[in-house]
Amino acid sequence: MSHNPRIAVIGAGLGGASAASLLFQAGFNVRLYEQAPSFARLGAGIHVGPNVMKVMRRIGIEDAMNTQGSHPDHWYSRHWETGDILARVPLGDYAVKEYGASYLTVHRGDFHALLMEALPAGVTTFGKQLAKVDDRGDVVRLEFTDGSVEEADIVVGADGVNSRIREELLGAEPPKYAGYLAHRAVFPTPSVKVGMLPFDACVKWWSEDQHMMTYFVTSRQDEIYYVTGVPAEKWDLNDRWLPSSKEEMREFYKGWHPTVQALIENTREVTKWSLLERDPLPLWSRGRLVLLGDACHPMKPHMAQGAAMAIEDAAMLARCLQEVGAHDHELAFDLYEANRAERASKVQRISHNNTWLRTNEDPSWCFGYDVFNVPLVEPVATRS
Ligand code: FAD
Repeated sequence: MSHNPRIAVIGAGLGGASAASLLFQAGFNVRLYEQAPSFARLGAGIHVGPNVMKVMRRIGIEDAMNTQGSHPDHWYSRHWETGDILARVPLGDYAVKEYGASYLTVHRGDFHALLMEALPAGVTTFGKQLAKVDDRGDVVRLEFTDGSVEEADIVVGADGVNSRIREELLGAEPPKYAGYLAHRAVFPTPSVKVGMLPFDACVKWWSEDQHMMTYFVTSRQDEIYYVTGVPAEKWDLNDRWLPSSKEEMREFYKGWHPTVQALIENTREVTKWSLLERDPLPLWSRGRLVLLGDACHPMKPHMAQGAAMAIEDAAMLARCLQEVGAHDHELAFDLYEANRAERASKVQRISHNNTWLRTNEDPSWCFGYDVFNVPLVEPVATRS
């Protein structure tokens, strides 16, 4: 590789788009390939913690995000029936001071659009579904379903839970259904009526085995989002999501606090999503192929850190490739995995157990993380 290494990123989700931006900034010759013809503003919100906002600062969209998002002062956990406070975790100015950046809740589509707009013209190609990948040792050949072929020196699999690149590394294996589904709805914030609590900017309502997380997705707080976690024994893995209904929501949330009932009654459209997981993978890379995000460690969303881990992965991968040089990609990939696997697995485990901030705890290890400045640990020598 005497030329500037060509890096192909497969998948323009939050992880892939962040990777492409950061790798471009680091001077690499990057191409981002996305199977979708374009992206729509799907009905979903997302938490963007200070650990992610530090990456957005580097990408150059921190101010735009701060203007766009809602800035909750606290994360509340409340009892499903009484509304009693189970935990009250400071965010707002406290997060800026203690963790080094804002804690936001935003519309996922708005966030994704900002990330895509931050990419230089010519980097992204839509409508490119990767069909085959062939690592020939000195180069990787990528074949797309439209019949086109591209070459790259390094390929980043940011292609989500059903990753084609993961399959190439480890063989075909469907993800595991986690036994829970998540309803998602975004709609105009309802008015507060007698018997209800004022809407907290960020609150998770908990029963023993079920929850509903709600927060605003705009700075004006005129749009509100809920996402549930509801046990459901079966799910057909051929469907990623299905339409749901107010009737179904009423059924699942019978007896819950009037504030929750008001959200259900004001729902316009609601979808339900299967929650998928994988056990930690035995390897994150081989040869010229490397994974990040859901392709590598899909998790239940119960810590609201799945995309955060994809974005941190992207930043650490760019950091390691810069540190080592892309010509020694295997060493860079080992360094990357050594500095990401433990944290991603920890977040995966806590998400699985669904215990995060249910009671008061110190979240600084998660929110205070700075991917650009955390001291690097050396990879364990495992390659023969
Ligand atoms: P994805 O977002 O899945 O992106 C993969 C991309 O690759 C897609 O655009 C896809 O079209 C493309 N692709 C796939 N295959 C191919 C191919 N063969 N060729 C080309 N392109 C391809 N995370 C948070 O941090 N905070 C939250 O609040 C939060 N809430 C969540 C709520 C729910 C209900 C769910 C299900 C998840 C939530 N998450 C949250 C997790 C988060 O959504 C994921 O972890 C995150 O989107 C993963 O990003 P990614 O870029 O790795 O993958």
